[in-house]
Amino acid sequence: MNPFIELGIRHDIVNAISELGFENPTPIQEQSIPVLLTGSNDFVGLAQTGTGKTAAFGLPLLELLDFEENYPQALILCPTRELCLQITNDIKNYAKKMGNVQVVAVYGGASISDQLRQIRRGVQIVVATPGRMLDIINRKAIDFSKVKFVVLDEADEMLNMGFQEDIDSILSTTPEEKKTWLFSATMPAEVRRIAKKYMKDPFELTMGEKNTGNVNIEHEYYIVRARDKYAAFKRIVDFNPDIFGIVFCRTKIETQDIAEALIKDGYNADSLHGDLSQQQRDKVMKRYRERNLQLLIATDVAARGIDVNDVTHVINYSLPDEIENYTHRSGRTARAGKTGVSISIINAKELGKIRQIERGLGKRFVKVEIPTGFDVCEKQLFSIVHKVHNVEVNEQQIEQYIPRIMEEFKDMSKEEFIKRFASIEFNRFLDYYKNAPDLNAPIEEGRRSERSDDRSFDRGGSVGKSEYARLFINLGSVDEFNRGDLLGYICNQTKISGRTVGKIDVKGVYSFFEVQHSDVEKVTAAFKEAEFKGRPVRIELAGEGTSDNRSSGGSSHPRREGGYNRERSGGGERREGGFNRDKSGSSGGFRDFSGKRREDRPERRRRF
Ligand code: AMP
Repeated sequence: MNPFIELGIRHDIVNAISELGFENPTPIQEQSIPVLLTGSNDFVGLAQTGTGKTAAFGLPLLELLDFEENYPQALILCPTRELCLQITNDIKNYAKKMGNVQVVAVYGGASISDQLRQIRRGVQIVVATPGRMLDIINRKAIDFSKVKFVVLDEADEMLNMGFQEDIDSILSTTPEEKKTWLFSATMPAEVRRIAKKYMKDPFELTMGEKNTGNVNIEHEYYIVRARDKYAAFKRIVDFNPDIFGIVFCRTKIETQDIAEALIKDGYNADSLHGDLSQQQRDKVMKRYRERNLQLLIATDVAARGIDVNDVTHVINYSLPDEIENYTHRSGRTARAGKTGVSISIINAKELGKIRQIERGLGKRFVKVEIPTGFDVCEKQLFSIVHKVHNVEVNEQQIEQYIPRIMEEFKDMSKEEFIKRFASIEFNRFLDYYKNAPDLNAPIEEGRRSERSDDRSFDRGGSVGKSEYARLFINLGSVDEFNRGDLLGYICNQTKISGRTVGKIDVKGVYSFFEVQHSDVEKVTAAFKEAEFKGRPVRIELAGEGTSDNRSSGGSSHPRREGGYNRERSGGGERREGGFNRDKSGSSGGFRDFSGKRREDRPERRRRF
């Protein structure tokens, strides 16, 4: 038997959701549907976005309402226009094989007269953002006196956005005996308070551990120096050729700057922030949803309610001020049972924040090294190889060109052809990254701050100056050194004991190694005239002048030269990957549903 039938959902709904690909209930659906179907409980569900909570409350509503009547029986309040439209659309889809189910979306930034007209025509389910809903109530254009169920979706977000009073006013127009179902990704004290205020003895359901966040999300962090942040970010993106990500910044200006820089560097990126008009926001979101954008650069507020599946990475270009916001950000990936990665690019001083978030989520973050230029080139090469391997060939269209292509390559061996084909893109990355420095913050800096971080959280650990100095050497794996070889080479050259050498980090065209402070002079002196295969060997104290700016030799970013499947945009910019290019400007003052500027408001929540 279909598992949804077993949960008590009827056939015409099950048939509709089967067409949407719902074969098995998600955990929250499994646990909440039987409770909500009784229609006799208030309910609090602590659940992340992307867990299937819309169906968790939407399916029971379709079972419980009387669709022969045409008055409002259920009111769903949610924080954003995007979520409002999404919920409306989802419920319409679940109900598409039922007769006379009328769902109306009520939200700001769109014609109120259309919404009023739909309400007058008769509606059983109203999905609304609080500002516009209150407006309609104040016009006496809707009667909630027979509402049986109120759903507060993303309650924490609604409170966050300052909708508490609006919600109070709206709920005061609904009957005492209605049932209230509240869903929230986090459970700060304010949400607890409203749960207490509006509900009697609610049934509480926590999916996973409290505040644990989605278990399918890997949390990673990279430590870089502030000046290397953008270069490190690009390198992470280049290391993930199939990334479909949301990049979070703290301010509108930073959002805009990063998006502009990325566009200049040939990435498919655009920004979403509070200075865009609703129309511009819609346009950006449409492009992102349709995958014509690969990177969406957003502020926390602007990204609220973004509901796009298959986001592979969330990148915290700047850490949020509050732990709750980190949960919301990372919840944009790993939706619907998929996996995702939440990356934070931080400087060593911000390690304390990472530790706090780890504690808040009860999850360990993994420290990852910024990939070397060599790593990026290798990853890109194999990405091209896989693309070539998997590309769908349009036999009909290409057929006419095949004889000419064959003629051109008739004297070339298969190996030679493959090598050249792969090199077209590989060379660009190789050229750009050939002298790419290590962007990881120097180890002493990291260690020192790990220690001071530990100290500030009473975890003990000795505090003091590192006994090692870190040295750069212009030899690496391209010179066929591994760690052992390099150790041997250094000891041979300097006559210091191998036991006194610390960590050795072999990169592509260079490496780092640690020696005792007392040995630094001896080591540098020993390499003064040294040559390796006719090349002078260079030793430097690490941490000096190792930024992408210095050593990329001014060559423009490989993406910029045009990628595979590239297109030419209207502005002469080349992009890769067949993404389109309608750039949206950034003028006009975006106001939210209640007409107040939310993004400029001081936040009232817990800060680090
Ligand atoms: P939600 O948390 O309601 O926004 O749902 C996240 C995504 O999961 C949406 O794209 C849903 O269509 C999808 N989804 C919800 N329930 C199921 C299910 N039982 N099986 C497969 N996909 C689902």
